[in-house]
Amino acid sequence: MINLTFLGATGQVTGSCYLLETGKHRILLDCGMFQGSKETERQNIVEFPFNPAQIDAVVLSHAHLDHCGRLPKLVKEGFNGKVFLTEASFPLLDLMLKDAAHLQLKDTEWENKRRERAGKALLEPLYDLEDVEALLKLRVAVAYKMPTAILSDISVTFHEAGHILGSSIVRLVIQDGAESKTLVFSGDLGNPNSPLLRDPEIITDADVLLLESTYGDRDHKPLENTLLELKEALAEAAQSGGNVIIPAFAVGRTQDLIYWLGKLQRQGDVPQRQIYLDSPMAISASKIYAQHTHLFNIDDPELTKKAPHGWQAWLQGLLFSETAEESMAVNRINGGVIIIAGSGMCNGGRIRHHLKYNLWRREAHIIIAGFQAQGTLGRMLVDGNKKVLKILGAEVNVAAHIHTLGALSAHADQSQLLQWAGHFKEPKPSLYLIHGEKNAALSLQTCFNRQGWQANIPKAGERITF
Ligand SMILES: [Zn+2]
Repeated sequence: MINLTFLGATGQVTGSCYLLETGKHRILLDCGMFQGSKETERQNIVEFPFNPAQIDAVVLSHAHLDHCGRLPKLVKEGFNGKVFLTEASFPLLDLMLKDAAHLQLKDTEWENKRRERAGKALLEPLYDLEDVEALLKLRVAVAYKMPTAILSDISVTFHEAGHILGSSIVRLVIQDGAESKTLVFSGDLGNPNSPLLRDPEIITDADVLLLESTYGDRDHKPLENTLLELKEALAEAAQSGGNVIIPAFAVGRTQDLIYWLGKLQRQGDVPQRQIYLDSPMAISASKIYAQHTHLFNIDDPELTKKAPHGWQAWLQGLLFSETAEESMAVNRINGGVIIIAGSGMCNGGRIRHHLKYNLWRREAHIIIAGFQAQGTLGRMLVDGNKKVLKILGAEVNVAAHIHTLGALSAHADQSQLLQWAGHFKEPKPSLYLIHGEKNAALSLQTCFNRQGWQANIPKAGERITF
């Protein structure tokens, strides 16, 4: 008998974590961080509903924080098994977790100053750099498509997910007495229109399928329209003299954006001469991407030729802004440039400074190119129902143009999810829709059920047996 418990990314897109128990072993699929509102993030502090010392191994789908961000906490609380991940996730995990530890340390210091003044008990960060270092020692890199026995009764194969560099669809084969069962976990499934990476690999058999549903309720706008909108926003901003501000996830979205900007530039459609990448993390991630061009999409001969020479060869005028001083200098530019900065959902990082300096300017253009979770500043901008926002302690009037470019998403949309799952052979696997807000999952469930599937939407803490 095999048990699977849904411990995160149920009814929401963050906190990905699933506990798989066989007769002999316990493993986790992902151990991600909850991100979004304060209330959502409070779930990170809550004790794990299992003993971390009794977890034998972790299998990681990809290096985004909402999939890996609680791994150091797992180690801090006693986990000492191996963490299996793809070769490109190996360096990305290092980058993501060290940054996460650093941010938490800073946030906790800040919060503790307030608490001290108020006479309240002080907080401890979720984990520190030492915990991250201990976790990183447990990594084991596995090549794509290489079935690998990770425990006596469990073997794992990573397949390309096309979402970010190193992202994978995880296929587990579990020995259960004389029988063997297959569980496929989609991880975050990429958008086949994504330019840099290969398309998500087709899988045709499984007993149980965990499928993400981030965009389960909608299709992305056609790519051509999106690129046209991007081109027009750049032209309008150049004409009115405003800046173009693009919040972007450091890993994945930033590199896609650089790709598209380079493509538009060659057509003469990028009037801005300077494009600032104002994010040390995105700069490091871009360097890791540049070291793994063999994993890039081979459909684009132009990219294949230029990619090995680095991003600046691809996009003229691309400037890396690493230090705080450099970033502050970018803050002082009133118009005429493109600024790409993190975080992708505007809930932290340098982008908040750029929004503070630009959002109130009528001539500025803000380009939202990724999913914005409930409760984030980015979501408020997309929803557009607030005229004045509080950013870094200042009241900021929203006067800039806000563009939402759906087609640049790193996630498959409704039709793409249905299409990908449509390749599974009869009998169809038991289907569980995860990693989606309520409406997205419900809408996708209706579509699947119409096609003869029995799609389930698991609740937090729900356990299934197969
Ligand atoms: Zn992701």
